[in-house]
Amino acid sequence: MPELPEIRAHAERLEAAFAGEELERFTALAFTALKTATPSPDAAYGTPLSKVGHRGKHLLLHFPDVTFVVHLMQGGRLKPDEKQSAKPRFGQARWRFADGRALLLTEAGTERKAGVWVVSGDPEEQAPLRGLGPDADGIDAPRMGALLREHPMRLHGFLRDQHILAGLGRLLANEICHRARLSPFAPTAKLDADAATVLVDAIRSCVAEGLAFERGLTEMSSSADRPAEVHNRVGQACPQCGDTVRAIEYTRYTVAYCATCQTGGKILADNTTSKFLK
Ligand SMILES: [Zn+2]
Repeated sequence: MPELPEIRAHAERLEAAFAGEELERFTALAFTALKTATPSPDAAYGTPLSKVGHRGKHLLLHFPDVTFVVHLMQGGRLKPDEKQSAKPRFGQARWRFADGRALLLTEAGTERKAGVWVVSGDPEEQAPLRGLGPDADGIDAPRMGALLREHPMRLHGFLRDQHILAGLGRLLANEICHRARLSPFAPTAKLDADAATVLVDAIRSCVAEGLAFERGLTEMSSSADRPAEVHNRVGQACPQCGDTVRAIEYTRYTVAYCATCQTGGKILADNTTSKFLK
């Protein structure tokens, strides 16, 4: 799934290519794609795309009167629509602009979870952004300390909970724990002020590195290509210490970690139910 660096770089790309263009028409190509009934997308017709931003993993297409909030989920992509065919493969929604170009939301796979919300007023106050935590790289150590105390749970799950911190997924959660030299199972309530500082630094540096990588591309990367020291590196040598990167396997994903760097050499057993790390 695209995480904060991929989404932010993509918002920059889309803004550079489409800002200022007037929207001619929005078309939901799959009936599940548009998640809101009001306001109508036509509130944006004839008005220019003023800005493309993001909140967490959501892309925001801002028009003067309404904002389209787009969530790509696992397999969604929002790209220039060169062909503009009547029934594009995996097509979910299309924005056609007055200059003849268009943007197409596609979602590969069968999950059909990607979607578009049209909102007026402050998008932060409405679904799907309402209740989202702050963007993960935008908070300071005291705020992190407070969040850790307020949400007693395991660190890996804490980092991925969008209601606590927005924008991190499986790759960055693995990388941040490793960068911070903290166990993915560390109980958040026991992390002190020093750990909060280390965590904030790890989040910022991991996001910045991901962003620098992503800004060098013309299209959104796939997870396997992104900079990582432990994610997708299970069985390989840890670049920091040479120990073997280990895995804790869950039904739908893998937590990757280095025992020497993160747990004082302790091998984490996969002996709990996945409810803590779902
Ligand atoms: Zn290591």
